[in-house]
Amino acid sequence: MNLESVSPFIHSLHEQNKLERVLREELDTGFFVGKKKLGKELVFIAGPCSVENEEMILDSSLAVKAAGCDALRGGVYKPCTYPVNIEKDGWKEGTREEGLKFLNSAKNASGLQVVSEVMSPRQLEAAYDCIDIIQVGTRNFQNYALLDELSKQTKPVILKRGTWATLEEILGASERLLNSSLTEMAICLRGIIGGPPYRHIYPSTRWQPDLMMVCALKEHTKIPVIYDPSHATGRRQFVKVISQAAVACGCDGLIIEAHPDPPNSVSDADQAISFDELKMLVDSCYDIYRALVSK
Ligand code: PEP
Ligand code: MN
Repeated sequence: MNLESVSPFIHSLHEQNKLERVLREELDTGFFVGKKKLGKELVFIAGPCSVENEEMILDSSLAVKAAGCDALRGGVYKPCTYPVNIEKDGWKEGTREEGLKFLNSAKNASGLQVVSEVMSPRQLEAAYDCIDIIQVGTRNFQNYALLDELSKQTKPVILKRGTWATLEEILGASERLLNSSLTEMAICLRGIIGGPPYRHIYPSTRWQPDLMMVCALKEHTKIPVIYDPSHATGRRQFVKVISQAAVACGCDGLIIEAHPDPPNSVSDADQAISFDELKMLVDSCYDIYRALVSK
């Protein structure tokens, strides 16, 4: 690719050796999610926003597998917009270390790998043995203490785009992750700050889908791109179409919030879909993907 003509600014960062790793033509940071190699085949990761209790995550893991997905997602450390001081049924900004035990049971029952977020080096240590694919959430996209710690280990990382982040900031944060031992990572787009008319569609549509960034990242880097249509839309009725659009834009995988009882999800209830809806979404996205790769 001719970086100079695509983006003189990124070209100049390359010239200054600031983006040495992420722009490499032969770079391969794709990793296996179940049997599929990310970047080679369309990957689906799904599950609840939050691991609420053992039974729900066990049920979810089996349903996610039955829907044709490759890995289970579920947060145990939840970054809440407002501080939660009261513990309710074992949940207080997540089920935390107890939730890790539930995730382990779900892994054993379903045989699926798990994707879960950590927000600090301390949480990374506590969760390390349980989590197969480590998620960095949007709020910690430029948490350098965390990124530097993650760069020194070898489990694959999914880096979610900061809601404010530019193309070069996404590449810069990825470069930081690849600075030491870590070789396997993906970038996850999850919606960005939109203008007021967009934000006011519904109170839960806090973010604007950032589909064109899939195409822009593909112009510059071989790092696989995962799309999160759940946070990008904030509303379950939009999740399927935005997933389809993301596949049409060339994303390598989707990460979707699905819940056994969507309206009663402890967190992000407005964007959770049911497992029946998940199955239909997976099938329809595969159809689009197959049509595109056969061309
Ligand atoms: C999540 O995946 O549940 C989450 C909190 O995502 P984000 O960091 O993109 O808001
Ligand atoms: Mn969520």
